[in-house]
Amino acid sequence: MVYDVIVLGGGPAGITAAIYGKRAGLNILVLDESPKSGGQILTTYEVDNYPGLPKIGGMELGDKLREHADQLGAEFAVGRVSSIEKQDDTFLLKTRKVTYEAKTVIIATGAGHRSLGAPGEAEHMGMGVSYCATCDGAFYKDKVTAVVGGGNVALEDALFLARTSKQVYLIHRRDEFRGDKVLVDQVKATDNITLVLDSVVESIEGQMKVDSLSIKNVKTEEVSKLEVDGVFIAVGITPNTDKMQGLPEMDAAGYILAGEDAQTSIPGVFAAGDVRTKQLRQVITSASDGANAIFSVQRYLNSQKLHKN
Ligand code: NAP
Repeated sequence: MVYDVIVLGGGPAGITAAIYGKRAGLNILVLDESPKSGGQILTTYEVDNYPGLPKIGGMELGDKLREHADQLGAEFAVGRVSSIEKQDDTFLLKTRKVTYEAKTVIIATGAGHRSLGAPGEAEHMGMGVSYCATCDGAFYKDKVTAVVGGGNVALEDALFLARTSKQVYLIHRRDEFRGDKVLVDQVKATDNITLVLDSVVESIEGQMKVDSLSIKNVKTEEVSKLEVDGVFIAVGITPNTDKMQGLPEMDAAGYILAGEDAQTSIPGVFAAGDVRTKQLRQVITSASDGANAIFSVQRYLNSQKLHKN
């Protein structure tokens, strides 16, 4: 079976591509490592900036996106693609068990959490170090937690944890936040969140489980100890492009070079969502990318006279 398009990734970009692709009559397969669609929104407690769906839960939005694609008959498969290879007019996509074939490919593999790189971080992963407050926050009911970062994710994580943790420290390396003002104001108005600004985590300590952090104030150089039961790292994202051979050209950070039209350096291969070079990484811009990518796929299929099997 040769698909018109195979979409790698079932986040908002991939699912939107599936919806637009099915509506355009394309023979489309969505391949994702996870059977659950939604990508990063699955680890988001609440999405409050997607038009028309105020305060929707991340999990619920993921389910709704998938339901929509299912209703249109999109085909899904679980698998991790290790290489993309051009062969005559088609691309071969290899997973451990299956090789898929398609006339075009949309890479919508998204991005994942970035590590802090502090001593003790890797050793304590799952033992007090977490990258997902909505997944692990419940383990710290009435305990003391810290969040590291100054973006929207760190702010949202701090607010989420403050509902159940006794005390939350929000540690940020500057004295101004990168995240949205509306979230900063909420954080500042929350009694059990304490801001630890101009500070970096030097190390994460504890015998088996995390029990403290060494914090350095970058202005005074003073180092202090902060006793915590858990630390949530929210220092940004990194593109999921490190596990695949045959990818198009990328920038230094590993994002696939592509504009709004999703065109990459390889004709017939498109990039959509957080994985591509872009200004703003949000659910809505990912969804928009998915739609644009399908438009470009159709143009490519027409130009190559590949539209019908
Ligand atoms: P982000 O916006 O890139 O913020 C990362 C934060 O981590 C920054 O404050 C950065 O500090 C800090 N940081 C980076 N490396 C660090 C290090 N080594 N040590 C200490 N701090 C470090 O990332 P994000 O919060 O994960 O968000 C990712 C994307 O998703 C963003 O585009 C964001 O807007 C979007 N998002 C949006 C929403 C929403 O709109 N509601 C919700 C979630 C996510 P500096 O500020 O000093 O660089």
